[in-house]
Amino acid sequence: MTTECGRCAGTPGWEPMEVEGVTRLRRCECWTAAHASAPSVPREFREARWATWRRTAENRHALAAAQAFLRGGEDGRDLLLCGPVGTGKTRLACTVLNESWRLGERSMAFARVPLLLYRLRPQAALETSETFDRLVAAELAVLDDLGSERDAATDYTRRTLLMLYEARHDAGRRTVWTSNKRPSEIAAFMGDDRLSSRLVGRCDVVGLEGRDWRLLARDAPAPDRRTDMGPALAGAQVEGLGR
Ligand SMILES: [Zn+2]
Repeated sequence: MTTECGRCAGTPGWEPMEVEGVTRLRRCECWTAAHASAPSVPREFREARWATWRRTAENRHALAAAQAFLRGGEDGRDLLLCGPVGTGKTRLACTVLNESWRLGERSMAFARVPLLLYRLRPQAALETSETFDRLVAAELAVLDDLGSERDAATDYTRRTLLMLYEARHDAGRRTVWTSNKRPSEIAAFMGDDRLSSRLVGRCDVVGLEGRDWRLLARDAPAPDRRTDMGPALAGAQVEGLGR
């Protein structure tokens, strides 16, 4: 809350207004702007912020990588958050959107890859180009859950994702991917390494390992799990792995 706001200096966050001779307070625009989340962010992650990220020894590096991504601006690298279900990759990707929104970015999109591929299927021609163009146009996009589509990728799936990523890259737009697979597994899943090689080439690849947050919530002691992602990511910029 800031007292720099002229509308609510005396009652931070609340703007006084006269209604029939009585002074009432309503939420000030400055408060609404500061607390808003990016519109495309799923409901469960609307409150996701750096400040609400549950920092653990196992995920500290991922938070640092996400913050570095946001600081990187136009010239920064993309980000691939990978790890098992429940490690917070989607939450962290949405935190990037929300924090970016707070900083004034308004051109952003969030899409779950399995649903996106369904929307972009050849039979849905009418909707297809609109969805595709919207995702290309967003300055910042989160493409969530790559590699969790139910059926192994078809030719069409491979081409669509590759074209989308190429178009975004050519336009200088930045992308955060999340996946429950490592790049080598994405290549195997797609039967094609074109997308995975571009991911490795353009992204900081960050493994979110360690404890499942839902287990953590029950305070279950968890073993010190380590990742074997290292060899699969040879040549990639890998953070937080192999420690
Ligand atoms: Zn205000």
